[in-house]
Amino acid sequence: MAIRPEAPAPALWNAGRYGYARQLASPNFGPRPPGTVIDLIVVHSISLPPGVYGGQEVQQLFTNTLDWNAHPYFKSIEGMQVSSHFYIRRGGELWQFVSCDERAWHAGKSCYRGRDNCNDDSIGIELEGLEGELFEPAQYEALASLSAAIAANYPIAHIAGHEHIAPGRKSDPGPGFDWPLMQRALAWNRAQFPDAALFQPDTKEPGAR
Ligand SMILES: [Zn+2]
Repeated sequence: MAIRPEAPAPALWNAGRYGYARQLASPNFGPRPPGTVIDLIVVHSISLPPGVYGGQEVQQLFTNTLDWNAHPYFKSIEGMQVSSHFYIRRGGELWQFVSCDERAWHAGKSCYRGRDNCNDDSIGIELEGLEGELFEPAQYEALASLSAAIAANYPIAHIAGHEHIAPGRKSDPGPGFDWPLMQRALAWNRAQFPDAALFQPDTKEPGAR
């Protein structure tokens, strides 16, 4: 009887690019420092103009093609050159702008787990949303599966919000983001999450009976 070779599995990762993401290259990136251990996922929220969903403005911002005159708010960020590795839209649609092997520009001045310049050794994921507002179930689903896939390819030890790595300066994704849900979805150790994320004063301790 003939032995049929197994079909090769599609490559999930190719040079830091995730196979299930729509790829749109951003020029806003650079090399990671030599010997970098990529062990942190940073969760953000973004929408342009803030609170308006469904347009192409975030993709335009990350590719330096946003028309600064198209909205009064854009004037306040004119000339900004930023990027993230990933962007998850309200319906769960996933975009990638920068290879995870490269250094994207999402964190800014930041410090976490005793190390500063979190852009050096983190992977940034933007959720289409507004800090303080809720996020969609499809976004949690996409974020959880993406985070698991990242952790299967990189030695991720921590996941945190922009607000946790730049406290006082940044407040995204904000109190509308359900960290306990993420912890349950990923089944990662609680120590991999910021204390503040799982011990919010207005939420019950996850796992409490
Ligand atoms: Zn942010």
